[in-house]
Amino acid sequence: MNGELAGRVVAITGATGGIGRAVALGAAQAGAEVVVLGRHVGKLQALHAELEQLVPGAALMAQLDLENALANDYDRIADAVLDRYGRLDGLVHCAGMLGPLTPIDQYDVPTWCRVMQVNVTAAFALTQVLLPALRKSADASIIFTASSVGRKGRAYWGAYAVSKFSVEGLAQVMAEELQGTSHIRVNTLNPGRTRTAMRRQAYPSENLESLPLPETLIDPYLRLLGPRGAGINGQALDCQ
Ligand code: NDP
Repeated sequence: MNGELAGRVVAITGATGGIGRAVALGAAQAGAEVVVLGRHVGKLQALHAELEQLVPGAALMAQLDLENALANDYDRIADAVLDRYGRLDGLVHCAGMLGPLTPIDQYDVPTWCRVMQVNVTAAFALTQVLLPALRKSADASIIFTASSVGRKGRAYWGAYAVSKFSVEGLAQVMAEELQGTSHIRVNTLNPGRTRTAMRRQAYPSENLESLPLPETLIDPYLRLLGPRGAGINGQALDCQ
């Protein structure tokens, strides 16, 4: 525990997934109070128990299904954050849905909408509802988890690739809007090939053991969340 994030409150979506879980545990180890968001209560409870071992009483868990959440579900989370902490210093978007790898001419429209909902629209809605809490921070950081296929398009990556391009655009728009009018920095971070369930889904025949574990890649997240991220805004960055 180096205390780099001591005194900061950081919310993480996809916190029960590979990269999100590593970021949540890493942020807690660095001294942050963490708000972990996930869609499955059982997985959230298991993560919460781990966080309790690290820093008793510091973590808050919030159930949110990004595909089906309604306005009052988002409001409930913003209210809970403000009631408990009075502000938010970091928001890390790690939740993501891959969807099928298939050519555009065969891509199923309802599935396209689900991927865009989880990866873009829900991330936008959650960020928007948490902006009042982020504005109360002296130094806030929003991180959208990006992807190589959202920086240069790649055949068959369909809605996932397009959603990640959209996230880059959202981050750029927000970074410019918030620069000079707030203490909020907005950046995207591409973890690169990482040993997680989503990677296995995308590359089922790949030897996952050859890929880095999420916990080895989280330093760039911690850097952007804390004082080392000062002055970094509107950037598209890479973990590897
Ligand atoms: P995981 O599959 O381990 O994690 C994805 C997370 O998203 C899970 O926690 C999952 O929840 C959550 N999620 C999916 N759908 C919903 C939903 N409807 N509501 C709420 N949460 C949802 O994959 P990664 O850890 O690899 O992915 C994290 C991020 O990193 C993603 O944005 C991904 O696009 C990005 N990324 C990953 C790369 C890699 O190589 N692994 C490379 C580049 C980018 P649950 O835990 O309940 O399943």
